[in-house]
Amino acid sequence: MTRDRAAGAIAFGSGISDDHKDGIRWVDYRNISWNPVFCKRCDICVEICPKDTLVLRNDAIIEEDNCILCGLCERYCPDLAIEMIPEAVAAHEARAKEAPADPPGEAG
Ligand code: SF4
Ligand code: SF4
Repeated sequence: MTRDRAAGAIAFGSGISDDHKDGIRWVDYRNISWNPVFCKRCDICVEICPKDTLVLRNDAIIEEDNCILCGLCERYCPDLAIEMIPEAVAAHEARAKEAPADPPGEAG
C-alpha cells in the first residue's frame, strides 16, 4: 500500500478504493476497506475482531490500531461490507515469511 493511499484512507468517505472501480464508494483504512452502503451496522465485525481493532462510531465502522490481518471481519460480515486491502495482506504475508523460524532446540 502506498503512503498516499494510507493517508487518504483516514478521511472518512474520502474516495473510491483502487480495488473497487465499479463506482461503489468504499472507505479505505490501513488494512481493510469498509462499505458504508452495504453495511447495516450490525456490530458483528466489532464483536468478532480478536484485537478490538474495529469500532462503530458516528455511524461508521472505523479501523483503529492493532489489526493483525486475520480476516475474520471480512469472513463474518453478512453483507460483504468489509474487504481486506490486498496490498496490506501481501505485505503482512511477506513479513511473516521473513520472520526467523524458531531456534533449534526450542521445540518440545
Ligand atoms: S459485520 Fe459488516 S454489516 Fe455488520 S457492522 Fe460490520 S461491516 Fe457492517
Ligand atoms: S482483520 Fe482481524 S484483526 Fe484486523 S480488523 Fe479484521 S478481525 Fe480485526
